Amino acid sequence: MASIRENLMAVRERMAAACRRAGRDPSTVQLMGVTKTVPVERIREALEAGLRLLGENYVQEARQKVELLNEPDVTWHFIGHLQTNKCRQAVETFQCIQSVDREKLAVELDRRSRSVGRRMPVLLQVNVGDETTKAGVSLENLETLFDVACRLEGIEVRGLMALPPYSEDPEAVRPHFRAVRQALEALRLRAAHPERLTELSMGMSHDFEVAIEEGATLVRVGTAIFGERAKRA
Ligand SMILES: *Cc1c(COP(=O)(O)O)cnc(C)c1O
Repeated sequence: MASIRENLMAVRERMAAACRRAGRDPSTVQLMGVTKTVPVERIREALEAGLRLLGENYVQEARQKVELLNEPDVTWHFIGHLQTNKCRQAVETFQCIQSVDREKLAVELDRRSRSVGRRMPVLLQVNVGDETTKAGVSLENLETLFDVACRLEGIEVRGLMALPPYSEDPEAVRPHFRAVRQALEALRLRAAHPERLTELSMGMSHDFEVAIEEGATLVRVGTAIFGERAKRA
């Protein structure tokens, strides 16, 4: 089995190649390591190999890992489904919430962030494939959620996050990535501060190259760095 360091190098090479194909500067695409179910010893290996941005789907799991790893210069983003009763802990734990998908959540994050004197960076999660099994605001309702979120001073919308339908063939996902980028461009036209609305979090282990070609600024990679995950009970 390849080491985490080798996996990371391979992922970075694939990212760089995708940037070359798209004529993009590699420094405009961040790599996030997705660490759900990954034990801290393995996460530590990735940090030692230079990874600095981590994503977690569960607030409680992340809080334990943040404490155990005790690495102040590592950035943690939340990428899972967030319940409103977990917002206080989420605001304490993460530097960005990528999965804001409904008004009620935006309002609660705003309230919790302001109460600790913070302005929390967030992304709006879009359900680009209109899948009933997935969270996310539909493209149709995105503008409404964006307008509400922009009026809340405790959060700052930085861009969009998407988890498009899975396909064995990454090329089949390309139209979805493109639709997310176009949705961001449309929002920038109505934004008071378009220069703050730049992030496109899209692409996972099997399709991040296509996502980069379509404009991703942050790819969320789990399996290709840490190996197959243990299944959750
Ligand atoms: C698990 C997960 C990923 C990473 O998936 P891999 O296929 O293991 O790279 C990315 N984004 C989200 C939201 C996830 O839940």
